[in-house]
Amino acid sequence: MAKPVLLSVDDDADVLRSIERDLRSQYGAAYRVMGSDSPEGALDLLRQLKVRNDSVALLLADQRMPHMNGVEFLQEATQIFPEAKRALLTAYADTNAAISAINEANINYFFLKPWDPPADHLYPQLDDLLDDWQASYRPTFEGIRLLGTRWSPRSYELRDFLARNHVPYQWIDVELSANDPETKQLMDALGPEAASLPVVLFPDGTKLLESIPAEVAQRIGLRTRAQTDFYDLAIVGGGPAGLAAAVYGASEGLHTVIIEREAPGGQAGMSSRIENYLGFPNGLSGGDLARRAMVQAQRFGVEILSPQEAVGVRLEGPYRIIKMADGSEISCHALMIAAGVQWRRLEAPGIDRLQGAGVYYGGGTSEALSCKGEVVYVVGGANSAGQAAINFSKYAERVVILVRGESLASSMSQYLIDQVKETPNIQLWTHATVAEVHGDTHLEEVSVLCSDDGKTERVPANAMFIFIGALPRTKWLEDVVERDEHGFILTGPDLIRDGQRTKGWTLDRDPFLLETNVPGLFAVGDVRHGSVKRVASGVGEGSVAVQFIHQYLSKV
Ligand SMILES: Cc1cc2nc3c(=O)[nH]c(=O)nc-3n(C[C@H](O)[C@H](O)[C@H](O)COP(=O)(O)OP(=O)(O)OC[C@H]3O[C@@H](n4cnc5c(N)ncnc54)[C@H](O)[C@@H]3O)c2cc1C
Repeated sequence: MAKPVLLSVDDDADVLRSIERDLRSQYGAAYRVMGSDSPEGALDLLRQLKVRNDSVALLLADQRMPHMNGVEFLQEATQIFPEAKRALLTAYADTNAAISAINEANINYFFLKPWDPPADHLYPQLDDLLDDWQASYRPTFEGIRLLGTRWSPRSYELRDFLARNHVPYQWIDVELSANDPETKQLMDALGPEAASLPVVLFPDGTKLLESIPAEVAQRIGLRTRAQTDFYDLAIVGGGPAGLAAAVYGASEGLHTVIIEREAPGGQAGMSSRIENYLGFPNGLSGGDLARRAMVQAQRFGVEILSPQEAVGVRLEGPYRIIKMADGSEISCHALMIAAGVQWRRLEAPGIDRLQGAGVYYGGGTSEALSCKGEVVYVVGGANSAGQAAINFSKYAERVVILVRGESLASSMSQYLIDQVKETPNIQLWTHATVAEVHGDTHLEEVSVLCSDDGKTERVPANAMFIFIGALPRTKWLEDVVERDEHGFILTGPDLIRDGQRTKGWTLDRDPFLLETNVPGLFAVGDVRHGSVKRVASGVGEGSVAVQFIHQYLSKV
């Protein structure tokens, strides 16, 4: 933890050196002693300390300085660090000025120069001041701070990115906390840069303005570039299927890399509580599962490139070459596509405009806390919608689930239906579809079409979370692998039609169970045609596929 600062200001270099020396010898173990030879320089330094979220315990200023005297300096410095104790260093001739400063300018104490011996004339009074300061001191947050506004899609994108990558951060909504003195001081210290939201402040005092996830990823050391250019096994997608394949592959000696576009964990990472995964009788959050799996994979030496997107595949003899969004390439012997599925878009006027500003696809786990006391709409009737509704009900005043059908029975697991029924602030609205969403800068109302009577009802809403099924995004693979009409990838038995192997297949064996029409290119999990869309089945497929990869590699 960074030590609180004791700052002294004196334009006389000798005096500054000697006060710093005396402060350091007595307080250096518990405080950071800093000095400045001009009040202007000291104010700049204080602004930097504010942006870094450092604490300042004491400001000690010489009264006689050119341009700005000690009292003026302390008054300005108080705007930046109001809690810091303030003291003047004065010559005997200035005693009267110092006494009136104590009364008029809220100065805590004054010291006469010279203060020798400090044990008599400096430390006892400073001890009192610092004891006082310590009594109300609360250590400041030391990690990343993100400044933005709740309804800004760019702020949401960053919050979601940090949360899903398990990066601890403090969120400061500069509109909501506009009257909070700490936020005001921080915004003042940032000056004109405070307008370039979202702003990310790092503990070392550096910052990113109008920041985007890729920049933050680079700054916090998330790896987006591969360490070598060849791997035994490359896996596209870091959801449960991809992570399981990586753990099994790497633990069995394969040099393995995962390429993940958003954050390891995939869809499962967005789940607030997975209750049907074997071995966790109380359920576990998707975030927790993702974090554990990631640590496990890394322990076996798996390289995880995230955020990084695979955008193309080329075949060169036994090598499969993957092209990334940043133009880099890696090659491998065995390639596994574990790219899962992405949310289907809801077609209704206003949705695209308000996405990230009250309208969200998926769980929005980072949003749950912001929904305190609000009315939240959840669109969809599957398990993911049920889980989200239960999670939001802990914070929101009311959660309304909108479903097209007449009940949840055909789409949601019974245990979730029971939980929904037992939660008093969850309401189910059947035969209902979203006709339009309204709001200038953020969602304010939803128009709901009721198929019972064909009427449209316009209702107030603070947030809407959409869970209406998902589809694979595999267009980038269309020239390489065979897919069904929805884009799901065909594997194993799907590639044998009327007893004939798929066109272009040249090996004298059938494709392995999870192998595509390209030897050595496998597909597992939700992206695979005919897969069971569950965490356990994705994990199972990822693990099983590794056995086929060994067989494939033994003959490459
Ligand atoms: C909110 C929610 C709750 C759920 N709850 C449960 C539950 O309780 N129990 C249960 O069994 N199942 C649940 N599921 C379903 C389960 O999460 C999925 O079946 C499972 O995550 C599928 O795993 P996967 O690895 O195949 O794909 P995904 O989890 O979809 O992961 C695929 C990953 O690939 C990445 N990717 C895609 N394309 C690329 C590319 N070109 N380059 C790089 N990376 C790419 C994606 O960013 C993603 O991270 C839930 C799903 C959701 C959304």
